[in-house]
Amino acid sequence: MLFIDPEKCIDCEACTHECPTSAIFMDANLPEQWKEYQALNAEMSPLCPGIFEKKEPQNN
Ligand code: SF4
Repeated sequence: MLFIDPEKCIDCEACTHECPTSAIFMDANLPEQWKEYQALNAEMSPLCPGIFEKKEPQNN
């Protein structure tokens, strides 16, 4: 799972357009069905290592 630190995000929306599975939403556009993950994202993002290289998407 990928987390985005809401304190560091500048809301440029680049990732929402580049995500190959359309899984990233800006806060204002977050579908109701995913809102339960918003707090989890804020909690977990500072705890996870950063990603600094492009990776291929993984399908589970
Ligand atoms: S690319 Fe995504 S995570 Fe990064 S600053 Fe822009 S909106 Fe935030």
